[in-house]
Amino acid sequence: MTNGGVSFDQLGLRAPIIRAVSEAGYEEPTPIQRDAIPVALGSRDIVGCAQTGTGKTAAFCLPLLQRIDELAEDVPRIRALIVTPTRELAAQIGENIGKYGKYLDDIWHTVIFGGVKEGKQIKALKEGVDILVATPGRLLDLMNRGFLSLKHVEVLVLDEADQMLDLGFLPDVKRIVAAVPKRRQTLLFSATMPDPIRELAETMLNNPVSVAVAPVSAPADRVAQRLFFVDRTNKKSLLADIIKRQQLTRTLVFSRTKHGANAIVKFLDKRGITAAAIHGNKSQGARTRALAGFKDGKFRILVATDIAARGIDVSGVSHVINYDLPNVAETYVHRIGRTARAGESGVALSMCDVEERDYLIDIERLLGKHIERVVEHAFPPSEKPPRPTDLEAKRRPPKTRKSSSGSRPRGGARRGPRRGGGGGGGGGRGRGRGRGGGRR
Ligand code: AMP
Repeated sequence: MTNGGVSFDQLGLRAPIIRAVSEAGYEEPTPIQRDAIPVALGSRDIVGCAQTGTGKTAAFCLPLLQRIDELAEDVPRIRALIVTPTRELAAQIGENIGKYGKYLDDIWHTVIFGGVKEGKQIKALKEGVDILVATPGRLLDLMNRGFLSLKHVEVLVLDEADQMLDLGFLPDVKRIVAAVPKRRQTLLFSATMPDPIRELAETMLNNPVSVAVAPVSAPADRVAQRLFFVDRTNKKSLLADIIKRQQLTRTLVFSRTKHGANAIVKFLDKRGITAAAIHGNKSQGARTRALAGFKDGKFRILVATDIAARGIDVSGVSHVINYDLPNVAETYVHRIGRTARAGESGVALSMCDVEERDYLIDIERLLGKHIERVVEHAFPPSEKPPRPTDLEAKRRPPKTRKSSSGSRPRGGARRGPRRGGGGGGGGGRGRGRGRGGGRR
């Protein structure tokens, strides 16, 4: 990603942070880092429109670490709180804080999330932390039971706000915000800006600077996309065929349901293709094992549901396969973005059965283009697939409506291609020692 030739030295970050970042292999800031870091260092609030894969974690972690380091106190108290929707994302942010903060002394952080025993998390909190990364449910639970206080929070980060909304966490988020002092810096990041998030930003943030990079459809530009029309009953066979023929490794397969994810893994296993599933019904241990096995190559294929996949950061995913098309077009863009992290390119293959054609229309509208069809493949559909123009025609609204409201087409604003989408972990002080809250 180009950023206009700005280097990390020019953003106002101090040497120990720049050193850690360069050891992480980052040569130059990504656009969101270039835009957000100086603003955050200036203590301004930020509303950032950026999705996972743009480098936004470092965009908020680096200035936050610098601020906490500058105000280092003898007694650690929670002075920075990062709220994020999923356990994986929380764990990953925790790891990044450890990585970016490794040359800063005396900063303690920990990660808390649900689905694991709370004992270690409570112990870490009792020992004292400066930076807390948390999912909303466990955070409120431990707060209500008096294990943590948010009275000293100076920096609040709300990460993946739209996903928190989708998961029904908005009321929890509002409760958390109410428990944090009014005088604070707030950084809110969201891939899309639906109205409830916009409202949240308006009520919670103080004169924020907007930082928007990579509109939601941008990663799609770096991903080669292809589409297979196929009967539902043949999807598993087609999947195995594609994996074998193209000798795929490090491939992320998306299933709309947890049950479906399990069935895919079983099917692939029987055909000698190593695979693991990751979804909300799996224990934390099983999820961690699946992810670790995928990262180290034990499993060629990771089958995930959208929610579980949100937080996954695995570099070098060569292919994303949409076994099911998502019913929300933006989700398609999130999914395929998993294979084009931080400027890499990748391939996204999608399967579409007869029931999913309306989803395809929505996705292509969002992309503003048609996905290339694979016409010749091992399991052609029993029904002749529609041409792109047929699909469009099917959806075309009537030209006029006989109503007093005049001739507004059905579907109003959603008509035509849309761009931009509207819009653990353990802890550590200094050199990697940790307060192992939610780790593994
Ligand atoms: P994020 O959007 O925060 O999930 O980051 C996506 C990926 O990009 C992660 O694997 C980061 O380690 C990586 N990354 C973040 N910033 C940079 C950078 N400036 N240069 C190269 N890679 C980066």
